[in-house]
Formats: sequence, C-alpha cells, structure tokens
Amino acid sequence: MGGIDWGLLIACVGGASFAGIAVYHAVAGYLYVRYYVRRRTTAESWKLQPERYLTPELHRLAIWSGTRNMTLSGLLSGVLVYVIASGSLDTPIYTDVAGWGGWAYTLGSTVVLFLLTDYIAYLVHRTLHTRFLFRHLHRFHHRFVATTPYVTFALHPVELLILQAATLAPMLVIPFHAVSIVGVLLYIVVFNIEGHSGVKRVSALPWQPPSQFHDDHHAHFHVNYGQHLMIWDRVHRTLRRHGRRYGPEVFGGRGERDTGGADAGRELESFISY
Ligand SMILES: [Zn+2]
Ligand SMILES: [Zn+2]
Repeated sequence: MGGIDWGLLIACVGGASFAGIAVYHAVAGYLYVRYYVRRRTTAESWKLQPERYLTPELHRLAIWSGTRNMTLSGLLSGVLVYVIASGSLDTPIYTDVAGWGGWAYTLGSTVVLFLLTDYIAYLVHRTLHTRFLFRHLHRFHHRFVATTPYVTFALHPVELLILQAATLAPMLVIPFHAVSIVGVLLYIVVFNIEGHSGVKRVSALPWQPPSQFHDDHHAHFHVNYGQHLMIWDRVHRTLRRHGRRYGPEVFGGRGERDTGGADAGRELESFISY
C-alpha cells in the first residue's frame, strides 16, 4: 500500500464531477432553450401543465441545488473510482469482455443492471413517500409541482446520497463491465431529465414511458413511483388509476376512491394508459 496518488485522485474526482455537471447542464439546457425560451408563446401545444410555471425563485433554486448535487455526486463517485482504480477496493467490475463469459454475459448483465437499478430506484422512491421521509427529505423535490428539466436533481442532499448508494450497491456485488456501468448511469441521468422536462415527449424506446408519467407524479404526489419502467407500478398497483383521487395528503401510492370527480362512473380502478 503506497500513499495517495494525488494525480490520479484529482483526475478521477475532477473527471466525474465535470462529466456529471456537463451532462446535466447540456441536456437540461438544450430542452429548456428549445421549449421554455424558443416556444414560450405556444406553451399550450407542448407544455404538460400549461397553466403552471415555477416562480423565478424556484427556478433558481432548481438550478442551484441541481448543480450542487451533481457536484457532490461527482465528488463521491470520483473518490469511489479512485479507490477502485488504485486497487484499494476490490470490486467485481471488469474491463475485459473475454474474461467474463464473453459478450453474452456482458450484454445480459447490462440488461440485469438496468432492471435491478430501476427496481431499486422504485423501492427507494416509494419508501421516500412514507410520511416521515416525505416530510423531512423528499418534500424538497415535490416543491416543484410543474417541473422543468433543471428540477431533475433538485433534491435534499441526504436523499441524493441515499439514491446514489442504492444505485451503486449492485455494482459492488455483481460483476458488470465498466462500460455497462457508465452507459446505464448515463441513461439514468438523461432520461430522468427528459422525464422532468415538463414537455409532452414520447420516447422512441418502447419500454420508456412518456414524460407525462413522471409529470403526473409531481402533479398528484403519491403515485407513479417508477423511474424508467412502468412495470413496477403495475405490479405493486401504484400506477395512477381512473376513479381514484390523489394529492399531497393522500399517502400510500394507491389514492382513494373518488366518487365526485370527472372520472366517477367510468371503468373504475383501471390503470391510466400512458
Ligand atoms: Zn416523489
Ligand atoms: Zn421528480
């Protein structure tokens, strides 16, 4: 065991922080300028909640806390990459495809990594919607009822740490290729930003729900906990349903019977189709 390799440490921490901040601002900035700046006057045609806008204070808060969180997350990931790269932490992460059963294992395990991190994200998010954690941590993110791309990482810093630990945990246990890990993390960041865009967008990827799915989570609070797949919400019956009422005080993920709403009387209890 030698001392700290400062050159490598600075490269890992600087690289991870820069990459996180750059991807966040590039994707969020692109969507923000394309819609909120250039098409501001025709918001009815593209905006999911055309009657609602963030106040200038909330808009600044989203950008500030999002940038702070990407920095924090980059610092921690950078240190993790450093301890792995310098050999101080043994992980099953590999870089040689041939060594681990070849391409079949590498491609199959990439799908497993995606499914596993997505299900973990669902469970953690759903847990954050229990009364205590919601009031003390997750409510910060739900101050933004009408989202913009910058809202994606506007989270309480403790929530960010929980999400990051939960996302990285499988990578320390199951063998995944380093490129699969980077790819899945990039996917999570980019599609989370699209999901928070507040813009009516449908993905070309058949498994990826339209942006309306997570927008409804912000509009109705305790429902639609999934990240990139709707299957977990279907299985656990936390997907938004017709004839149910949701709101900031309706905890539990399944809403409550709505007898007076616009949906009353129509195929009660069936899932909303996105
Ligand atoms: Zn939430
Ligand atoms: Zn959100």
